[in-house]
Amino acid sequence: MAGGHRLLLENARQVVLVCARGERFLAGAALRSLEVLEGASLVVGTDGFIKAIGPADAIQKQFSEETFEERIDCSGKCILPGLVDAHTHPVWAGERVHEFAMKLAGATYMDIHQAGGGINFTVERTRQASEEELYSSFQQRLGCMMRAGTTLVECKSGYGLSLETELKMLRVIERARRNLDIGISVTYCGAHSVPKGKTASEAADDIIKNHLPRLKELGRNGEIHVDNIDVFCEKGVFDLDSTRRILQSGKDTGLQINFHGDELHPMKAAELGAELGAQAVSHLEEVSDEGIAAMATARCSAVLLPTTAYMLRLKQPRARKMLDEGVIVALGSDFNPNAYCFSMPVVMHLACVNMRMSMPEALAAATINAAYALGKSHTQGSLEVGKQGDLIIINSPRWEHLIYQFGGHHELIDYVIAKGKVIYKK
Ligand SMILES: [Zn+2]
Repeated sequence: MAGGHRLLLENARQVVLVCARGERFLAGAALRSLEVLEGASLVVGTDGFIKAIGPADAIQKQFSEETFEERIDCSGKCILPGLVDAHTHPVWAGERVHEFAMKLAGATYMDIHQAGGGINFTVERTRQASEEELYSSFQQRLGCMMRAGTTLVECKSGYGLSLETELKMLRVIERARRNLDIGISVTYCGAHSVPKGKTASEAADDIIKNHLPRLKELGRNGEIHVDNIDVFCEKGVFDLDSTRRILQSGKDTGLQINFHGDELHPMKAAELGAELGAQAVSHLEEVSDEGIAAMATARCSAVLLPTTAYMLRLKQPRARKMLDEGVIVALGSDFNPNAYCFSMPVVMHLACVNMRMSMPEALAAATINAAYALGKSHTQGSLEVGKQGDLIIINSPRWEHLIYQFGGHHELIDYVIAKGKVIYKK
C-alpha cells in the first residue's frame, strides 16, 4: 500500500460537523443550530484522524495527487459524527424480560427491587457467569450498539458489588476495550447497590478501603484501565454522605466522577456533583432548581436517559429548564437488563418528543456533549480536523432523518466508521 491516506468520503449532501471551533461542549444559544456543510468531502489519514473537511471541489483539487486506501461516494447522503452513548450497563447475565411483564402490570422499580428482583437478580446471575460467557454476550451487545451508530460508549461495572465480581466485569470490559474497534470509557460502579447484609456506610467503607486501592494497583500494572467512578445515590441505596465519601476517594485515586443522582427522589445529588467537580451526573428526574443552577456554573454535564423515564413511566427530567439555564446536556441509552435499548437514534427521538429537545440539541447531546461527559470531547464528538475519524454515513438527504425515522436507523445507516476504518457496512 502506497502511503497516502486511509479514507476519502466524497461529495456528501451534508456533513454535520456539530461544531467547528474546537468547542469542548455546546450549551445555551450555541445549540440553536449546528455546523453543517453542504456538498462536502472529508479525508481521514492513516493515523485514524481527520485531515481535511471542506467543499467537495476544493478537497478534490487539494488531494488529486494522493492515494486512498478506500473512497466512498457519499452523493445524496449525510455524514455525521459517530454517536456517543454516555451511560450504559452492558456487562451482565440473566435476562429480565419477566420483570417487563410485571412492570406493564403496574409494578414499580422499587416493588420489583424489594421482591428480590431487579438488580439483585442480575447480581446473582452475573456472579455465577464465567468471564467467557460475560464477554461473549457483551461483545454481541457492543455490536448492536455499533450498528446503530455508536462509536464511543461508556460501560459500567456494578452487577458484582463484591470485589471479585466487580474485577471480573472490569476485566471483561478491558478485553473489549483492547480488542474491538468501538471506543469504550470504563466506569467502576461497585456502589450500584448495597450488598445484602451491609449498611450503605459499611459498603462505602469496603469500597474505599478494599476496592479502590486494588483498582489503583491493577491500573498501575496495566491490567485494567478505569476512567470514571459511579455511585447510585438514592434513598434506600447510597445516601448523600456515603456517596460523597466514595466519589471523593475515587477522585483522589485519579478517576473522573460520573454518578447516578436525583432519579427517584430528590437527593441534592446535582449540588453534590457540582461541589465535587463531577464530570457528569446521570438521571436527574428529581433535580432541584438549585441543583440545575449549580451544575450550569460548575460545567458539570447532565446525562439524561430518556429510555428509563419512558419504560419506568417516571416523570421526565426537566431538560428544557436545564438547557435554558446553560447546563451541558448529554444523552445515554442506559442500556441494562431493565431498559433494553441499544439505539442512540431512538434515544434522541425520545429526547425530542418526551423531553421537548430540538433535533440539533439532541444530536449535540449524543455527540459532543456526551463525549464531554466522558472527558473525551477533545478527540471525539464532532467532525473537525485533528479529531478521530469516527463517523456514520446515512442514506438520506438531510441528517434529521436519523431522528425523524423512529426505529428506522437500521435502514438509514449505510456505514459506521471508527478511526477511518469501516467497521460496519450495510
Ligand atoms: Zn444507570
